[in-house]
Amino acid sequence: MKERVLAARDLAAIFAEVIDRVRALDPANARRWFDQLTPLHLDGGSLGVGCPDQAQLQFLQDRCKEAFTRAAQRVTGHLVVVEFQLTSPGPSKGTVAAVTQSTAGPRLHPDYTFENFVVGPSNRLAHASCVAVSQSLGDTYNPLFLYGSSGLGKTHLLHAVCHQVLGEGSGEVIELLSCEEFVNRFIHAIEEGAVAGFQSQFRGADLLVIDDVQFLSEREHSQEEFFHTFNALYNNGKQIILSSDSPPAEIPAVEARLVSRFNWGLVARIDPPSFETRVAILKKKADLRGVELADEVAEYVARHVQANIRELEGTLTTIYAMAMTERQPISLALAQRALEGQIKLASKTVTITDIVDVVTWHFNVRLADLQSKRRSQSITEPRQICMYLARSLTKHSLEEIGGHLGGRDHTTVMHACTKIAEAAGADPKMKALLDALTRQITQASQS
Ligand code: ADP
Ligand code: MG
Repeated sequence: MKERVLAARDLAAIFAEVIDRVRALDPANARRWFDQLTPLHLDGGSLGVGCPDQAQLQFLQDRCKEAFTRAAQRVTGHLVVVEFQLTSPGPSKGTVAAVTQSTAGPRLHPDYTFENFVVGPSNRLAHASCVAVSQSLGDTYNPLFLYGSSGLGKTHLLHAVCHQVLGEGSGEVIELLSCEEFVNRFIHAIEEGAVAGFQSQFRGADLLVIDDVQFLSEREHSQEEFFHTFNALYNNGKQIILSSDSPPAEIPAVEARLVSRFNWGLVARIDPPSFETRVAILKKKADLRGVELADEVAEYVARHVQANIRELEGTLTTIYAMAMTERQPISLALAQRALEGQIKLASKTVTITDIVDVVTWHFNVRLADLQSKRRSQSITEPRQICMYLARSLTKHSLEEIGGHLGGRDHTTVMHACTKIAEAAGADPKMKALLDALTRQITQASQS
């Protein structure tokens, strides 16, 4: 008996050390709620880790497996693998029974809840309408259409609605997906001769949430399908929520009958956040990571990073990572050092040519390749990186950037920017590459 108690204590101590290491190894993905994870067992080459929440489980599996495994191997000195499991969320933390995963449901980001959303003048209407819709599906605003530039919280709000509806547990069928995924699945269904199944899946939803509908631009066949899905749901009083980077009428090459339907319910715009909102968001994001952020640091960062919230969060991650590696508290001086590069950058004029020069040299491709129609990974990635860097380092419009890179339209550039930003958020290697390229580009533009 005594031995077993000791073993459980050992396991808890080992696990606490693993969590500490994970935080140091991967600050971008470290969260305060890691403290609530429970070690289930350590045997047969595996460390079982219990997590009570489906969205958290997904996050751990998608983004944290490598860091946990590396940390566990260092702490135990054995080649263990970490396995995450869903546990029943009982009140007694120690006695977790592993439950089998039921239907997968929508893939939700665990951070993207209403609780974690900071409301300010820039997003008040969008937030309030999402809350209203989540409380009474199909009855208030249908469809609800959110729009705003990239990184201002559209996806966050869409996920928050789904979290809320799921949390109520009344069994509503939710379909949440990006428009790109909708289109791809539709094409796949056609190829497989499974269009009927595709249709019944989406037309059977109580809540259909489609993110980034600007992706429908110029895709006539998918627009047609989307139109019928929309009608079927709408006529049955089912809720539809859509997001886009521009208002319905300004999405290029979308049929008028769809544009008119997008306007049927409520169209809510999200603007860039004010200084006060940026400060509050930084504090919220720091809190999610279990980090104390002094007012002066939050205000300093909010003053210097204004473009969008994704960037604000990226800066926080850089500061946090620096504090972790240097084993120092987050001070104003440290934040200033972290931002130095970025601030200098803002005061220089970088041209698209500077960017293309550095990126083509790094990837050993030619400008003509980037401008061509080729879609192999070896060309697509540098092309998308060019677009992303042009967007963040120059003041050129999406159209201008697309024009420079083979006459691509603005949705393609937008998509590339989102994709690279997300990759940088998920993959430290991509983040490091972008930082290195940025440094080279700004140096090049000076000389
Ligand atoms: P969009 O879909 O509009 O491009 P996202 O929803 O992906 O933007 O938001 C980018 C990041 O900014 C996310 O991490 C999100 O949590 C955060 N964010 C945006 N708005 C807010 C807000 N009001 N409060 C807290 N976090 C926010
Ligand atoms: Mg989004």
